[in-house]
Amino acid sequence: MFDLERRDIKYLTGVGPMRAETLGKELDIHSLRDLLSYYPYKYVDRSRIYAINELDANMPFIQIKGQILSTETMGEGRGKRLVAHFSDGTGVVDLVWFQGIKFAQKSLKLFKPYIVFGRPTVFNQRIQVAHPEMEAAEEIRLSTIGFRPFYITTEKMKRMGLQSNAIEKMMHAVMDQITEPLPETLTPDIIEENHLISLTDALRHIHFPQNTEWLKRAELRLKFEELFYVQLNILRYVRERQIHFRGYLFNKIGDIFNTFYHQNLPFALTEAQKRVIREIRRDLCTGKQMNRLLQGDVGSGKTLVALMSMLIALDNGYQACLMAPTEILANQHFDTIQSLLFGMNVRVELLTGSIKGKRRESILQGLLTGDVQILIGTHAVIEETVQFHSLGFVVIDEQHRFGVEQRSKLWKKNVQPPHILVMTATPIPRTLAMTIYGDLDVSVIDQLPPGRKPVTTIHQYDNQRASLFHSIHRQLAEGRQVYFVYPLITESEKIDLKNLEEGYLHICEAFANYKVCKVHGKMKAAEKDAQMQLFVTGEAQIMVATTVIEVGVNVPNASVMVVENAERFGLSQLHQLRGRVGRGADQSYCILVTKQKLAEETRKRLDIMVRTNDGFEIAEADLKFRGPGDLEGTQQSGTAFDLKIANLARDGQIIQMAREAAQRLMESDPDGTSPTNTPIWRQLQALRKGMTNWSAIS
Ligand code: ADP
Ligand code: MG
Repeated sequence: MFDLERRDIKYLTGVGPMRAETLGKELDIHSLRDLLSYYPYKYVDRSRIYAINELDANMPFIQIKGQILSTETMGEGRGKRLVAHFSDGTGVVDLVWFQGIKFAQKSLKLFKPYIVFGRPTVFNQRIQVAHPEMEAAEEIRLSTIGFRPFYITTEKMKRMGLQSNAIEKMMHAVMDQITEPLPETLTPDIIEENHLISLTDALRHIHFPQNTEWLKRAELRLKFEELFYVQLNILRYVRERQIHFRGYLFNKIGDIFNTFYHQNLPFALTEAQKRVIREIRRDLCTGKQMNRLLQGDVGSGKTLVALMSMLIALDNGYQACLMAPTEILANQHFDTIQSLLFGMNVRVELLTGSIKGKRRESILQGLLTGDVQILIGTHAVIEETVQFHSLGFVVIDEQHRFGVEQRSKLWKKNVQPPHILVMTATPIPRTLAMTIYGDLDVSVIDQLPPGRKPVTTIHQYDNQRASLFHSIHRQLAEGRQVYFVYPLITESEKIDLKNLEEGYLHICEAFANYKVCKVHGKMKAAEKDAQMQLFVTGEAQIMVATTVIEVGVNVPNASVMVVENAERFGLSQLHQLRGRVGRGADQSYCILVTKQKLAEETRKRLDIMVRTNDGFEIAEADLKFRGPGDLEGTQQSGTAFDLKIANLARDGQIIQMAREAAQRLMESDPDGTSPTNTPIWRQLQALRKGMTNWSAIS
């Protein structure tokens, strides 16, 4: 069989050792298979010939058929050029050469039919095409060209004459060698069920599609295949984990949970909270290790769900631990949980970097004996020195600050890995979560506790500052607290900091009767904490900050969030910021301040913020605007295998198809032993071997 994998690119017609080396270095192309997976970034329809009188300079590429009426050289020195007046009977365009003038002059023939291909521009009110591609009209059959592929090449490649059309020639050369179908990488069942075309057809049409219909089919097949193996890899991995690890069985609901539920719980759970607790409870009874992602918008009450799940662990004789990304948040969780458990005989301790000496010793001792039942902390809790008596349940809050490696350290904290609940307030569209957190089961709290007044969001221009300050004065007079947030983007950190400092001075002046505190990323942790504490206790009424307050701080009395230079924030970030207010019973406001001149897209972003409070809608919109690469913690590279053609932001539907196909395969052949599926397992093996990004999944 024709094995593309083993065919070195250097033996391909027109390549040779030099170009092969460059292709390897620049694009990681070594074999013919690699070359075929280097897909075009765009296509130009070459089946169509335009009439010269239809052309305008906005067309990206054009193709015309006609003849050269005359040529002349014009200009001097660097401006010297050859101009050929070209006509098809409907009009005249100028074909222009600045380089290779001699060569062009020699080879161009007057009154001979040519097909000219190039990009039209306007010069002196005439349409011209600089350095067009010319082919003798009788030598090409346009009906067989269809779409013409364009490939991205690097500067280095261009210098060696490896432009897009050189790659195109190589693709043709490979295609000429493929005289029989390539070995399939999907089974006939999967191909049929998903209405896919064969691999050979897909590769042919992704490079040289006859028309858009074929291009779409080729894309579907190749995208599906990529996403299918990403999903299959995840499901296989989950299965392997289930075989190798058992999970603790928590089949008891006991005194601790019941006492809390019937005596301490200060309000009724929302339906969504109840549903999620049931989902977690079900996991804990299976004997398998739970790995669950809990998504819930800011303020949806995830902490309570986490606490009640931890109490189930306690009832079954195990310890639980909650990790937060910052000391402030760990402190806050500690306070909240202690007061929620008031009067109950449960020992809860806080462990952060700043807890030292005797205090620390006593906590560590208590963890070893099992006296400490719930530990709350920062990543200090995963240090080697922290050993548990029997850790059974771990909650990780605000996941994106906790890397995958840190998560896996937890597994070694007991004989079997504890159950893990990851909580995040960054809503991730479902199909994306399926890929990035595909190894985690997902629970969603899609409901806010009753009585919350949705935050009112207002967009204001920075020349309306007087009226803005006026309404803030009113809020302060009613005893509310206010945030002012400034952007901080690392490249121009100095300017940003200057903005913040100036803003701070200005605000201190404008609100001279109030205490203003200030927090930014350049401060030492202790200083930051002290400033933050001023605001949390209500001693300061105004906080001026960079986005360090983004995650999780809870000050119910703060009712106004002013975001300065809001045009510089992404949607998800704005939504996170807005989540800092609207936590108490009062009507809250989020005011997005921008300059007046805004790009169209920015305006759309701000409109979405003003229109909706729905985190999922915002996340979807964010994904569309920015693509998945920009979402924190959800890089496109977050998949185990590189995606060459599929796009996590745009191909949600194909992700869904691929997930379902992979699931069906796992159900029918859980151990990978059925001979019909051999090509699939072999392909997965090959992908895993070549995988650079294993850590994304473990
Ligand atoms: P987040 O999901 O952002 O972590 P929290 O767990 O901090 O949200 O909850 C936000 C606030 O809502 C807290 O003050 C909490 O006490 C309150 N809360 C949580 N659940 C309920 C509920 N069912 N009814 C009323 N208030 C609730
Ligand atoms: Mg929280």
